[in-house]
Amino acid sequence: MPIATVNPATGETLKTFAELGPEDVERRLATADAAFRAYRTTGFAERSRLLRHAAELLDDDRDDIARTMTTEMGKPLAAARAEAAKCAKAMRWYAGNAEALLADETPPEAEARDAGASVARVHYRPLGVVLAVMPWNFPLWQVVRFAAPALMAGNVGLLKHASNVPQTALYLEDLFLRAGFPEGCFQTLLIGSGAVEAVLRDPRVAAATLTGSEPAGRAVAAVAGDEVKKTVLELGGSDPYVVLPSADLARAVRTAVTARVQNNGQSCIAAKRFIVHTDVYDAFAERFTALMEGLTVGDPMAESTDVGPLATERGRADLEELVDDALRRGATALCGGRRPAGREHGWYYEPTVLAGVTPEMRIHREEAFGPVATLYRVDGVDEAIAVANDSPFGLSSNVWTRDEEEQRRFVRDMEAGGVFFNGMTASHPALPFGGVKRSGYGRELSGHGIREFCNVTTVWYG
Ligand code: NDP
Repeated sequence: MPIATVNPATGETLKTFAELGPEDVERRLATADAAFRAYRTTGFAERSRLLRHAAELLDDDRDDIARTMTTEMGKPLAAARAEAAKCAKAMRWYAGNAEALLADETPPEAEARDAGASVARVHYRPLGVVLAVMPWNFPLWQVVRFAAPALMAGNVGLLKHASNVPQTALYLEDLFLRAGFPEGCFQTLLIGSGAVEAVLRDPRVAAATLTGSEPAGRAVAAVAGDEVKKTVLELGGSDPYVVLPSADLARAVRTAVTARVQNNGQSCIAAKRFIVHTDVYDAFAERFTALMEGLTVGDPMAESTDVGPLATERGRADLEELVDDALRRGATALCGGRRPAGREHGWYYEPTVLAGVTPEMRIHREEAFGPVATLYRVDGVDEAIAVANDSPFGLSSNVWTRDEEEQRRFVRDMEAGGVFFNGMTASHPALPFGGVKRSGYGRELSGHGIREFCNVTTVWYG
């Protein structure tokens, strides 16, 4: 895939970038290594000051960087502005909380004595240069949620961003430099995926984090495993959205639409499989379909647009294949199931609701990365949990019920990294984020996220 900005709303290639050669990559690795040696000795106060400055600059740049993101990957402009604001918030959160999250721990004196020590402590020290392989769907947020904790912990970052968001990638490097971070603390590598292995194998790189598809995660984790380097993987999801009879149905339906089509349907934590109790199924299906059908699909720069184009031509083709496979095998499209009429340019797809989905259909097991919802009718909590867990993924989950006993069941039995009741999954700096099964491992955000790339050091005083 060439490194280029291609406007998904028109299909036009706006700017192409040359890939870095081996010598450029070598220079950047050396710069990162040197930067780490100095930066690791800085204190939390200094790191916080720099990160707060980055947040201020990002707030000032919000409109411009939002337009860049929308141009590169097609998300509605208002959502792009909200993403930039969320990034600034996460930076401030880590600037304010990292010191406490990484404070030394002192086991009780009696336990230290039992270990033969007068005093024992646990210190969280930085690991080094961390390679971040990131996707285009939240081109700022995916990076900042790695970079903010990593920089506060004293690590330095190398970003290999998706090839279709090079301008956003370069903006991020510039942002951290303007904020005052020393040269080499955060660099963007304009390289294709084929060049990732050599970077990851370089002894100066300590660890890697990847957000993206399962094949990409597997490839990076295999190399990292071979090199015995720590990884965090945040891969795909096909989150269930369970609606039970005690739900506030009007809210459940409205939220379902947002949960499915946010970011043009291209979010790992989007609700994708709607599992509805038979008592409320017909009402849910009818209202949900009406709202999905009523969404405005169009130019992502227009404030009135709900759903813009898919980010890449390949992405739309993948989605079409999934829907066509389901329809061929007997699913029914309650709405959508095709490209919108009258739009010859750009990679648009109609919001789609599929009923009658069965396990033989690819969409039952694969991630639908676009505005396509699947509906399942179930008889009760047991069946709802069984259907919800019948997926290779386990990122997050949503359950609409006001019954506390039912809630306890879902907390106990959902095979997912999150269970959100009476609302939709969203990430927040204070809450851990990540999945189980094929959705990956490790956690981002919160104290769990910042400690992933730390050397948890036991210090023992005789
Ligand atoms: P990819 O997973 O291919 O891309 C994500 C990142 O990984 C990009 O930086 C990409 O670089 C890089 N990458 C891809 N393959 C490799 C590899 N073998 N070794 C090292 N790095 C690699 O996502 P796509 O854009 O191709 O999307 C495909 C599908 O992935 C989507 O339809 C969706 O199902 C899922 N996805 C999930 C995301 C999530 O948030 N969980 C985000 C994006 C995609 P490059 O761009 O240069 O190929």
